[in-house]
Amino acid sequence: MSNAAPKPWRLTLSRPLPEWERVFRSGALEGADVRVGPERGFESPDDLHAFVRGAQACVTWVTERIDDAFLDAAGAQLRVVSNFAVGFDNIDVDACRARDVIVTNTPDAVTEGTADVAWMLLMAAARRLAEGDRFVRSGAWEAHGSLGPTEFLGMPISGKTLCIVGAGRIGYATALRSIGWSMRVTYVARSRKPRFEQAPLCAQRVSLEEGLRDADFVSIHTPLTDETRHMIGAHEFSLMKPTAVLVNTARGPVVDESALVEALGDRRLYAAGLDVFEREPKIHDGLRALENVVMTPHFGSGDMRCRLQMSELCARNVANVLSGDGAVTPV
Ligand code: NAP
Repeated sequence: MSNAAPKPWRLTLSRPLPEWERVFRSGALEGADVRVGPERGFESPDDLHAFVRGAQACVTWVTERIDDAFLDAAGAQLRVVSNFAVGFDNIDVDACRARDVIVTNTPDAVTEGTADVAWMLLMAAARRLAEGDRFVRSGAWEAHGSLGPTEFLGMPISGKTLCIVGAGRIGYATALRSIGWSMRVTYVARSRKPRFEQAPLCAQRVSLEEGLRDADFVSIHTPLTDETRHMIGAHEFSLMKPTAVLVNTARGPVVDESALVEALGDRRLYAAGLDVFEREPKIHDGLRALENVVMTPHFGSGDMRCRLQMSELCARNVANVLSGDGAVTPV
């Protein structure tokens, strides 16, 4: 007996995704009833819950909480929650499993774009890009006159040590980019990652403490879990070199933001590059006031190719689950 969902398939996309009219209405999804939420998302969970009622597949965005209340609102016909992200800390996976709702994510599609942003933040923080831009844009440079030989100095990158915390797909892609800067790479992981240790990276596995003590650049790439929440806090900053740069493109709560503000403010840490924040889009007032932090609005996967690939992978997951064939990338 086929395990396909009865047609016409009812899908909700809580936001318009790249090329959704084509991607979610062609191939196996042709003829599907696709409802699309507002560009900026729903104002309240109640509005989101009312929107997903009756859907067999919900394509969700990282700021939406997928919990019992969401699942109750959607109804018992729901087969799949297809998260438009690789991270799925917004989803109560156990609650979904208890109802036989399959959860999928978008691994690989986000990897290169997010690694680009990690690398962009690393360079920007080391070489004071945002500070320099403010200096030029505000007219301060004109008022100040040409820079002298010891003004606006930054940290060198080539030949330095990069420590990757969370040695998965994005961590690896970020590490690979360091080859162009002849960096030494270390990695922190719960289990050995042979591809980090093989050529071309030839990276060394270290404990978190060793990695932090020794690195000039630390880039975080773990998922947000109970184990990684506040994994980098006051104690960890005390281990790092005062010349070191921290980059976080993973999830904000992996870093204790108040401790980060103190470390940066006291110059116990040279600089930070952040794409993610503890209470985003709210930004810690202390961070705003600091010159030695470069911030971007959680747009790691936000290049045109990544976002289209994410859209296509979400659609393939939905089509496969509703056809009874099983998900392409289940969580
Ligand atoms: P991934 O391939 O699953 O890599 C995550 C790595 O973290 C795994 O190798 C995992 O290794 C490791 N890890 C998990 N818990 C750990 C711990 N306690 N200590 C040390 N390592 C730990 O995931 P990915 O595709 O690289 O994505 C990583 C994260 O980036 C996502 O979860 C997401 O939150 C974030 N992200 C952000 C953006 C953005 O826009 N800024 C975009 C995409 C992704 P083991 O399980 O083997 O230990």
